[in-house]
Amino acid sequence: MRDFVYDQLASRVVFGAGAFDKLAAEVDRLGLSKLLVLSTPGQVKLAEEAARRLGARAGGLYPHAKMHVPIETAQAARAEARRLGADGAVAIGGGSTIGLGKAIALESGLPIVAIPTTYAGSEMTPIYGLTEGGAKKTGRDAKVLPRTVIYDPLLTLGLPAKISGPSGMNAIAHCVEALYAENANPVLSLMAEEGIRTLARSLPRIAADLGDLDARGDALYGAWLAGISLGAVGMALHHKLCHTLGGSFNLPHAETHTIVLPHAAAYNSEAAPEAMRRIAHALGGKEAATGLYDLAAAIGAPLALKEIGFQKQDLDQAAEIATRNPYYNPRPVSRDGIRRLLDDAFHGRRPG
Ligand code: NAD
Repeated sequence: MRDFVYDQLASRVVFGAGAFDKLAAEVDRLGLSKLLVLSTPGQVKLAEEAARRLGARAGGLYPHAKMHVPIETAQAARAEARRLGADGAVAIGGGSTIGLGKAIALESGLPIVAIPTTYAGSEMTPIYGLTEGGAKKTGRDAKVLPRTVIYDPLLTLGLPAKISGPSGMNAIAHCVEALYAENANPVLSLMAEEGIRTLARSLPRIAADLGDLDARGDALYGAWLAGISLGAVGMALHHKLCHTLGGSFNLPHAETHTIVLPHAAAYNSEAAPEAMRRIAHALGGKEAATGLYDLAAAIGAPLALKEIGFQKQDLDQAAEIATRNPYYNPRPVSRDGIRRLLDDAFHGRRPG
C-alpha cells in the first residue's frame, strides 16, 4: 500500500426522506437566528417553504441564483445578507444556488446550511466559483464548506429526466477521477467506488420512473459520496476539459460532464489500470469507458458535444486551451491526444 494523507472535511450530514422537516432544529443547533434563504428563480416556491419551516429564523429570501455565480449576483446577495443583518444562509437547490451561498460565505464567513436538490455535489466541497468578465475563477477555502447539509430525496422527485441523468453522471465523474487522483487514498477510493455503484444502479431506475423514491434516495446517497470525493482529492483531465468547455464555450455543466466522461476514461484507461478495474466492477462488470458510455445512453442522456451546441470549428481551440497549462493526469496530456478525444466526444462515438 502506498503512503497517503486523508483530510476529513468537517460538515454535518442529515440524510433521509423527510429530513427537510429538521431544518429549524439544525439551524438552532448552529445557534443561528436570522437566515437569508437562497434559490434560483425556478425554485422560489421551495425557498418559501424553507422560510416557512424556519419561522421567525427566516430573515429574507434571495431567489436569484444563476449558473456559474456571476459576480454581480454574488455582490447583490452579499449586500442583501448585510442589509438584513443575517447570521447565516440556507442554500436550497443545485450547484448554482449552493455556489451563491459559498460566495456569501467567502466574503463574510457566514455559516451555510445546504439543502441540495440535484446530484452535483458542491455542498460537500470547499471549492467555490465566481464568474467575472466572462471567465470563471475557482478556488478553495474552508470557510465556504457548508456547516450542515440536509439531504432529502423527497426534494429530488421533481428533478426532471433531462436534469436527473446528466446530474447523476456529473456525480459519477467526481468518483471516477477520485479513483485515479494524484492524492488518491484508500478510504476515499472506497467511497468513490461505492458512489459509482450506487448511481449506476439508481439512475436507470430513475429514468424509468422519476418518482421512484427508493432510487432517488440511492442516487442522492451516491451524490453525497461523489461530493466528498470531489472535495477531498484533486481532479484531473476530465474536470479540466469540462471546465474549459463550460467556461470558454458556454456549454451546460452536467451535460458536458456526461459526454466527456467516457472519453476521458478511455484516454486514461491504460495509465490507471487499478482505477479502471474498480470503475468497471462498480458498473457491474463492464469495461470502464464503454460502461460509462452505455450507462449515459441507457438513461437517455446526451452523448455528443454537437448535440449540446458545441461547434466543430472550435475543436482546435478547445484542445489548445485545455493543454495550455500543465496539470496532473495519470497519462501525459498531449495536444494531439486531447484533440482526438474531443473529436470522439464531439461525434459521440462509443469508446473502443
Ligand atoms: P443548477 O444548480 O444550475 O440547477 C439546474 C436547474 O435545475 C436550475 O434551474 C434549478 O433551479 C433546477 N433544479 C434544481 N433542483 C431541482 C429539482 N429538484 N426539481 C426541479 N428543478 C430543479 O445545476 P447543478 O448541475 O446542480 O449545478 C451546476 C453548477 O454547480 C455549475 O455552476 C457548477 O460549476 C457548480 N458545481 C460546483 C461544485 C463545487 O464543488 N464548487 C461542484 C459541482 C457543481
